[in-house]
Amino acid sequence: MAATKPVIVIGAGPVGLCLTLALAQEGVPVTIVETVSDENFLDQVPRAGSNHPSTLEFFNKIGLYERLVPRGIVAPKFLYWDRQESTLIAEFDHIHLKNDTKFPFVLQCERIKIIEEALAMAKAHPLVTVRMSTTFTGFSQNADGVIAHVTNEDGEPETISGSYLVSAEGARSVARRELELEFEGFTYPERTLNIEVAYDFKKHGFTERNYISDPVEYSNLFHWKGPPDRWRIHFPTDPNEDEAKLTNPKALQARLKGFLPIDGDYDICGFNLYPVHQRVAKKFRVGRVILVGDSAHVNSPIGGMGLNSGVHDAFNLADKLSRLLRGDAEEAELDRYDRQRRHIAIKHTQAQTMRNKRLLEERDPAVRKRNHDELRKSAEDPALARKFLLRASLLESLREAEQIE
Ligand SMILES: Cc1cc2nc3c(=O)[nH]c(=O)nc-3n(C[C@H](O)[C@H](O)[C@H](O)COP(=O)(O)OP(=O)(O)OC[C@H]3O[C@@H](n4cnc5c(N)ncnc54)[C@H](O)[C@@H]3O)c2cc1C
Repeated sequence: MAATKPVIVIGAGPVGLCLTLALAQEGVPVTIVETVSDENFLDQVPRAGSNHPSTLEFFNKIGLYERLVPRGIVAPKFLYWDRQESTLIAEFDHIHLKNDTKFPFVLQCERIKIIEEALAMAKAHPLVTVRMSTTFTGFSQNADGVIAHVTNEDGEPETISGSYLVSAEGARSVARRELELEFEGFTYPERTLNIEVAYDFKKHGFTERNYISDPVEYSNLFHWKGPPDRWRIHFPTDPNEDEAKLTNPKALQARLKGFLPIDGDYDICGFNLYPVHQRVAKKFRVGRVILVGDSAHVNSPIGGMGLNSGVHDAFNLADKLSRLLRGDAEEAELDRYDRQRRHIAIKHTQAQTMRNKRLLEERDPAVRKRNHDELRKSAEDPALARKFLLRASLLESLREAEQIE
């Protein structure tokens, strides 16, 4: 390995940690910088993690898959429902991908479990230096390398030098701001309300992953492994209502009971209200600074693609950076990373998540009927189902990226 200076990865989220492990396993030294302390690392707001087959293949490559399986739920199927008619529209089974992937299912395993396991692996790797409680504040770069400016665990300013700097800092990336890169796109006016409940929705016919279309109040319902087992349900909210009104206990119960009436109250384990953005950075690479994951692109969670496509960025980049640092590839490979992953962020992740939202919220009865008929037809025909699932599982996006020179 030509480079002795480490690659500096900012952010120990799922994307930064996957990149770190993939690089280290290729013999590249990495320093990973995370603002959160070890003590608070597992207190982060729980975010979902529907890990698609394409992502499971990557997790498997770095030995992470086997650590996640016991902590998650294997979900081969997902369902589309029509809330207005109280009917099941279509059932998709990943078994149609059995010749396309070793993992014909989704693994429901939340972000917090992924980062807990991946951080433990990173700390155990001799080529990885983990700097917790350390906040990245800026950088400088020249032809030979990059200097990261951080505030360290003692609250002191410090510099870390490296060969490249990868911003896996999430949506509020300091690097993207310092590079003055536009985060092109928009934010939906309505925020999403996420409520977590300990209640067995399976007895009502739901499976681990459900998309529920409704012209008034569409939703998604997903199952997560406990103890206690929880189900997470998302609803759109009125942009004019304030947070306190939307999230008081009575309002949460009313919303859940409107979705599915039960005797007594739901056992609510948690909730959050968050804005939904569709944005992509103007560039994913400027010199020795490269953006991955939410730092490069953010999207609506309908379809569970943010974490997945971020992890795909990480593996795409790890392959190119490790070859480059070994002397087996040219610097231009990093521009190919930009071309491939930016294309996928715009043409696949953004396009698909917007389409998913439109499908669920459609108001026009004729269009709704046409959409539902198409879903039914796709689910019932094995060739069409496979085509649908190749897209939903992001396998198609990986194949398309490979074609981009
Ligand atoms: C409610 C919800 C549900 C979701 N469900 C899904 C789903 O089912 N499937 C899916 O694919 N995606 C889902 N997503 C999106 C997914 O959570 C994100 O796309 C994913 O976490 C992005 O990973 P990341 O590593 O790029 O960034 P993050 O997960 O945001 O991690 C960034 C890390 O960087 C650290 N950091 C930030 N700034 C600094 C700094 N200055 N210095 C040092 N460290 C810093 C942060 O502390 C954090 O640890 C969901 C999102 C939400 C909000």
